Amino acid sequence: MPTIFSKIVNREIPAEIVFQDDRVTAFKDINPLAPVHILIVPNIEIPTADDIRPEHEATLGHLFVVAQQVARQMGIGESGYRLIVNCKGDGGQEVFHLHMHLLGGRKL
Ligand code: AMP
Repeated sequence: MPTIFSKIVNREIPAEIVFQDDRVTAFKDINPLAPVHILIVPNIEIPTADDIRPEHEATLGHLFVVAQQVARQMGIGESGYRLIVNCKGDGGQEVFHLHMHLLGGRKL
């Protein structure tokens, strides 16, 4: 069963995609907690940070490179931002498709 984020990656359900390449997709969070709130996800399904394996290292490194690029694209590269990855229940993770939150545009 594909995750809701896989459906966004595959453009089966709508989302405001701000960046996509062969490894990651970045789109606007549907319930933004800051003026800029973007989710950056690997195109492949890794359920949680606890499921990361050595073969994912390149993709997850790329996630950070894209986060920096999208932050600049959204105009918050200079002012700064927060990157968050929630893991499982106590970490507050709701969608079990690893994702990085990019938050900014106000003092956090
Ligand atoms: P987390 O609690 O880290 O799993 O965060 C999940 C995030 O996904 C929340 O900030 C939600 O607002 C966001 N979200 C859930 N469904 C969608 C969707 N269809 N499009 C965009 N963002 C979503």
